[in-house]
Amino acid sequence: MAHQTLRNLFVDQLRDVYDAEQRITKALPKMARAASSAELRSAFEHHLTQTEQHVRRIEQVLDSLDETRKRNTCRAAVGLLEEGEQLMEGHSDHVLDAALVAAAQKVEHYEMATYGCLRTWAQLLGEEEASRLLQQTLDEEGETDHHLTSIAESLNAEALNDA
Ligand code: FE
Ligand code: FE
Repeated sequence: MAHQTLRNLFVDQLRDVYDAEQRITKALPKMARAASSAELRSAFEHHLTQTEQHVRRIEQVLDSLDETRKRNTCRAAVGLLEEGEQLMEGHSDHVLDAALVAAAQKVEHYEMATYGCLRTWAQLLGEEEASRLLQQTLDEEGETDHHLTSIAESLNAEALNDA
């Protein structure tokens, strides 16, 4: 698809992450149910609440730009979440928890890259409100990633001891 202006690219990519975030709200409850660690389960549940907020923020951003709330299929999210489901089928117990953290962190890093670019484009385009909202989501994705890293320390140790 041809992008004639940076603004077109910006809007197109907002619609892409709009789709991604909605897919993630469907995946997180499944990941929470699959987790055996209570800490991991509550991390997924907490991030579900944040992710619902991320969807709302993208709507606010699109509204602030006078653009429609249209979804573009995010093939990267489809793929990342599909891989996550495969991991859930192939492992159990602590190893499954370690796999869930890995799958979740891949998604968070994808989102961090996306929101970093979107925030910068918003700044360059002089869209202050959009930039502020996107930075807020970027911060939450980063915090989630750090939280998962700290949970993973004990989960990986337990996974190592699984027969
Ligand atoms: Fe998100
Ligand atoms: Fe996220």
